[in-house]
Amino acid sequence: EAIGQVKAIAFDKTGTLTMGKPQVVQVMAVENTAKLLQVAAALESMSEHPIGAAIVRAAQKQGWESVAAVNVLAKPGRGISGEVEGKIAVVGKAAFIQAQADNCPESIVKQSQKWEQEGKTVVWVAYDNDILGIIAVADTVRSTAARSIVHLKRLGIEQIVMLTGDNQCTAESIAAEIGIDGVYAELLPEAKLEVIRQLQRQYQSVAMVGDGINDAPALAQASVGIAMGTIGSDVALETADVVLMTDRLEKLEYAIRLSRRSGRIVKQNIVFALSFIVILLIANFTGNMTLPLGVLGHEGSTVLVILNGLRLLKD
Ligand code: ADP
Ligand code: MG
Repeated sequence: EAIGQVKAIAFDKTGTLTMGKPQVVQVMAVENTAKLLQVAAALESMSEHPIGAAIVRAAQKQGWESVAAVNVLAKPGRGISGEVEGKIAVVGKAAFIQAQADNCPESIVKQSQKWEQEGKTVVWVAYDNDILGIIAVADTVRSTAARSIVHLKRLGIEQIVMLTGDNQCTAESIAAEIGIDGVYAELLPEAKLEVIRQLQRQYQSVAMVGDGINDAPALAQASVGIAMGTIGSDVALETADVVLMTDRLEKLEYAIRLSRRSGRIVKQNIVFALSFIVILLIANFTGNMTLPLGVLGHEGSTVLVILNGLRLLKD
């Protein structure tokens, strides 16, 4: 019932509007590419994040010798940290890494900005307080995303926005490709929650579609939380009210239409059933009703109500 009344929808970017299967496309090391990948992959092999999986795959392709990471801690929306061979290692967003490193080479900063303008996500790697380099990751947009947005607008959804922990440049480049007007970037999980609250003040009923641990607070706050079923993390699936079983965004439009149709049919049935009872009562008190006719009328109206309900099965 709630999903049919939604007026605004917020989509997470990575894993929801995009496939969530990012690939490492470029690597730039300050000194040693093999060391950079080795440290990054050691941490990321413990990560649930799609970026983590991409980095591990890339490292394996380069003949990565697996080294163990201990005390690994995922920082949703920021990155991941831990100890590799007894030294502190951190992988993630620029701001998160730069706070933990002494050096910050100019060439790396420049290259990072360039990749971001191209719509790539840049992951920084620091080890033992030194920046080792950056890794550019690119994700493909879901082929159905743009079409789904058009259909949702046609259904009368007033506001559709993208929420992401990724940087503004990358986010805008992808939003433009899909046809989404509003972009909220560089959001930590609690900031995603705040955007949902803000949208609720403006539009009352707001849906959030997401897949990650970082989306869980927003999914819980939204009027309707919707999780991607295949790619979605366990927390997202448990928090959401609706799960899209095959990650198909076009099912969202179906769910909204189904909800609205169900609502209409329920109302029709209530009006019909009550009117019929009123007619039977009047006929009874005016002496125009026999017992068999009364039973037939009453049970008959029930069958009609059921048949009307069954119309929902088609489509
Ligand atoms: P989104 O909101 O688009 O799903 P996230 O909030 O999960 O993205 O992540 C935001 C950013 O934080 C990523 O773009 C990446 O730069 C960084 N990040 C988060 N987790 C990791 C990780 N395990 N490894 C590397 N970078 C990460
Ligand atoms: Mg995500």
